[in-house]
Amino acid sequence: MDPTLRARAEAARGFMPPDEGLGLYRAAAELEVEGPMLEVGSYCGKSSLYLGAAARESGRLLFALDHHRGSEENQPGWQWHEPDLVDPETGGIDTLPTFRRTIHDSGLEGTVVALVGDSPAISAAWQTPLSLLFIDGGHGSEPAHRDYEGWAPKVVVGGRLLIHDVFADPADGGRPPFEIYMRAIDSGAFAEIEAVGSLRVLERATTGI
Ligand code: SAH
Ligand code: MG
Repeated sequence: MDPTLRARAEAARGFMPPDEGLGLYRAAAELEVEGPMLEVGSYCGKSSLYLGAAARESGRLLFALDHHRGSEENQPGWQWHEPDLVDPETGGIDTLPTFRRTIHDSGLEGTVVALVGDSPAISAAWQTPLSLLFIDGGHGSEPAHRDYEGWAPKVVVGGRLLIHDVFADPADGGRPPFEIYMRAIDSGAFAEIEAVGSLRVLERATTGI
């Protein structure tokens, strides 16, 4: 990975340990199929830099989807709340200004395209086949399963499905990302090719999910 982008990714705000970030980069850099990539859950752009570095190298776009209002666990009073991301005008979280600055300062504005809105609304209208899908949006049961159902069918055969915060042991973290990972495996359409920390890298083997 480009050392400048790697340093920027490591310094960026967000929730992506360096080894898992490099796992994202690798999974994206190895793609042998055509098409843009899409991530669900960009927050301040940290994972977008790892995926965006690979997207730039192969001349593709990375669609970085987020409503930028934060997940449940980012709201005031929850574990992952960061008070300086609250917009004083609305009183709600707004990560879009920080995301935009992150992408601009890293020189990736020509590669990383922000999709600002609700994931199920966008997936319902989305037609373009994806070479890579990264799911790291809402981690509650309903949001996670809706992201899987809405987006996983758009991944082309030979393309990749990456899921973050997958914990086999419930003591380590919430269940929904693990559940959708199991759904992907049990569907028979995806096969695991790598695991780094809580990141799972799957490849689409067949159509029909
Ligand atoms: N990948 C990021 C972390 C993502 S945190 C990193 O590397 O740091 C999860 C993000 O999912 C939050 O920014 C939240 O706003 C977004 N999110 C949650 N539910 C969503 C939904 N229904 N539609 C769009 N974005 C959503
Ligand atoms: Mg995550």
